[in-house]
Amino acid sequence: MKRVVVESGLHDSAIRPQTLLSEFRRLSIEDAKSFFSDPKELVEVACPACDSDQCHEAFQKEGFHFQECEECKSVYVSPRPSKVALAHYYQESHATQYRVEHFQRETAEARRKYLLRALSNWLGRIVDEKGNAQSRTFVDMGSNSSVLFDEIQRLGLFDSSYAVNPLPGLDVELAKIGVTISQGGVSGAGAISALHQLENQFSPFDMVKAAGDMLAINGLFFFTTRTISGFDLQMLWDKAPYIFVPEHLNLLSVEGIDRLVHRAGLNIIELSTPGQLDLELTAQARKADPSIELPHFIEYLIEQRDELAHNDFQAYLQKHRLSSHVRVAAYRPEGIDA
Ligand SMILES: [Zn+2]
Repeated sequence: MKRVVVESGLHDSAIRPQTLLSEFRRLSIEDAKSFFSDPKELVEVACPACDSDQCHEAFQKEGFHFQECEECKSVYVSPRPSKVALAHYYQESHATQYRVEHFQRETAEARRKYLLRALSNWLGRIVDEKGNAQSRTFVDMGSNSSVLFDEIQRLGLFDSSYAVNPLPGLDVELAKIGVTISQGGVSGAGAISALHQLENQFSPFDMVKAAGDMLAINGLFFFTTRTISGFDLQMLWDKAPYIFVPEHLNLLSVEGIDRLVHRAGLNIIELSTPGQLDLELTAQARKADPSIELPHFIEYLIEQRDELAHNDFQAYLQKHRLSSHVRVAAYRPEGIDA
C-alpha cells in the first residue's frame, strides 16, 4: 500500500479563511440546535467503521456525545440525527446555503490551486494505471462546487460526468460545464469521488457500498476525509475548533477506514495521509484558545524551532499516516453483487 509525502506551500488561511470558517461554524452550530433539538429523534449507532458496539464516551461537544470505539479507536457521534433529519438539514439549513454561496465560491481558486488540481492529477494517474479503460463515466458524490469537475474534465479520461446528490444551488454552474445531476445513482462508473463526505454521513458503510454499486468492475473509488488518527486531532481532541456537528459525525481512525472499505467489498490501492496542516492547525488553535494545553515537547517544537523542523515533522506525520487529512483509492473487484 502506498504512503506519500507531499509539500505544496499550502496554508490553512488560503482554503479556510478564519472569517468564513467562523461564520460557517456559527451557522452550523445554530442550525444543528434547531434541526436536531428533539433527543427522541436521535439514533444510537455502533462504530461506523468496524461495526463494534464496544465504546466509551470520548467527549461532549455542543450537547452531542462523541464515542471512541474500543476496537479501532474511531471517534463518532452517538446518538446522532437520523438519515432523514440529516437529508433535510443539507437541503434546508442556512449553513449549507452559506457553504455553497460564500465558503466554496470565495475559496474556489485557492482550493483549485492547492488541493483540487493535485487531487485530480492523483486520481487521473491511478485511473490511467489501474482503472477500467472501457468505462469513461466520472461521478462525484455530494458535490459542493463545480471546480472539481472542471479539473477532472481537463484530464481527458472521461466522456460523461455526474454529480450524485450535490448540495442545492449548483444546478446552473454544473449544467454549464455539462455535468448531469442525479439524485439516485449511476451504473458502470469508471471513477467516483467523494471529497470530505464520509465524516458527515449517517452511515459511512452505506456510502462506500453505494459507491461500489455504481462502479464498473475495476472501477475506482476515491475519497478524502478527516481522521482521528491525525496529529492535530489527537493533540486538540475535543478542543479542535473546526470539529462540529453535523459536519463531523464520523472521525474514523486509519485502521477503521481500512476495515470499513473491506467490509463494503472494495479493495484498497492507497490509504495515505498527505495532509500538510497538522502542526499549523495545532499551533493556531493553541494561540486562539489559551486553555488548550499541549505537551511540553510540542510547545517547544512550535515555539523554538524553525520551518525546516516543522516541515520535517509534518513529513514524518505524512509518511506514517499520522496526519488528519486522509485519502483513499479503492477498486471494485470481480464478484461483489451490484
Ligand atoms: Zn470501530
